[in-house]
Amino acid sequence: MRLANLAGRAVVIVEGGAIDVATASEGRFGPDPQALFDDWDAFAQWASTVTTDAGAPASVVLDEAALGAPAPRPRQVFAIGLNYAEHAAEAGYPPDALPVTFTKFPSSIVGQDAVVELPEGNVDWEVELVVVIGREAHRLEREHAWDHVAGLTIGQDLSERITQLQGAAPQFSLGKSFPGFGPTGPWLVTPDEFADRDDLAISSRLSDETMQSSRTSMMLYDVPELLVRLSAVCPLLPGDIIFSGTPAGIGNRRTPPRFLTADDVLVSEIEGIGTLTTRFTAAAD
Ligand code: ZN
Repeated sequence: MRLANLAGRAVVIVEGGAIDVATASEGRFGPDPQALFDDWDAFAQWASTVTTDAGAPASVVLDEAALGAPAPRPRQVFAIGLNYAEHAAEAGYPPDALPVTFTKFPSSIVGQDAVVELPEGNVDWEVELVVVIGREAHRLEREHAWDHVAGLTIGQDLSERITQLQGAAPQFSLGKSFPGFGPTGPWLVTPDEFADRDDLAISSRLSDETMQSSRTSMMLYDVPELLVRLSAVCPLLPGDIIFSGTPAGIGNRRTPPRFLTADDVLVSEIEGIGTLTTRFTAAAD
């Protein structure tokens, strides 16, 4: 199943369009995309029965310009750094460095086709597989981890490097949480839709130049392992999202460094999900 946030209303994507969840379910499920995760098992069961009759009262046009974040108001946002060996090396960390956990504060989350105002500093791109939690998870065991995942989407972990790296102890969470610094989308894809959910091509292009290209199977800690480690400390709540780390090819470690500028277009792609596009503008005076 593909589930999207169309102008604030949950829709299930079907051949040639989309079905409005609240209308098609006659109110059993509300329109709020975030609320569906609190009743995920029942919702997924219902969604599997949705029919796709063209012209049905609940069918709507899937206007991609109106897509919001699939999980627009997560209670917790986890983010993982240094989860691909080549990226850990380019960032200057030893090969055995443990993935680091931080947050992107939820006010930074936006959806497809966001226009992000660039703050002063050096704003960098990171394409990431984003995991959305569908069932509460505390002290998970590895073999049950995927059962707690509602779906996968694409994320861009935008980062202002001066804020992030200043001081003796870096400010990862703050430097990655300016408004619009958490694009996610274009929609959520349930794990059963992938031929191999643990091995997906992942890439990013900046104004048509390929900057990152890898596979999610190159993660040092795969999705189940991340869920085990995070849930050993924090209960993972329905609708929480996890940015799972970025492969090599970020701007800060290029020679010379390359950072986002006004009018840049960042396109991130993950196999089996689609593409997520973000545009940038200069800060207003
Ligand atoms: Zn990242």
